[in-house]
Amino acid sequence: MIGLQIRKTITALSFLAFVASLCLWVRSYWAFDVIGRAWVSSDKLHPGFVQIESKNGAVSVERWVTDYSLTERARKAATRKALEPGFYYLGGNPDAPSVSDLGFHSYFRQPITDFHTASRIGIGHWVFVLVFSVLPAMWLRGFLRRRHRLREGLCPMCGYDLHATPTRCPECNFVAKA
Ligand SMILES: [Zn+2]
Repeated sequence: MIGLQIRKTITALSFLAFVASLCLWVRSYWAFDVIGRAWVSSDKLHPGFVQIESKNGAVSVERWVTDYSLTERARKAATRKALEPGFYYLGGNPDAPSVSDLGFHSYFRQPITDFHTASRIGIGHWVFVLVFSVLPAMWLRGFLRRRHRLREGLCPMCGYDLHATPTRCPECNFVAKA
């Protein structure tokens, strides 16, 4: 019975995650959300950030690293506006979505400028929606099957015909609640 309770709890949590990921998926076409953490090295020459982004139907993790020590121009850039270290949130309107890649995209250590490199991996929101739908869908299938069997006068557990023995299933010992 404890096993059944855990299963029910996991199914309920999965359903909540399913609804949440579905809402975030729809939202990602109207507004983007970014949560990140920035850091600045003690010499101020190696700032960077890691952020999780929900945008245009995809969830992505992005990491930027900066090496201002490379060139004289970069050193000058380092003295300008530096990243504010700590956690941050950004939001806004996303640009036109690209639907061709199903939300999947990635690049690693790609040069952005002379002194910035970025890595990024993106997964379509639909993957999370699909994964979190499995357990609730199984529960719904079982629920509909049990309901159908009860209406047909069959054992809800194994489908055995209970017209002769309505209170107890001779096949699997299921006892009907009064
Ligand atoms: Zn039965």
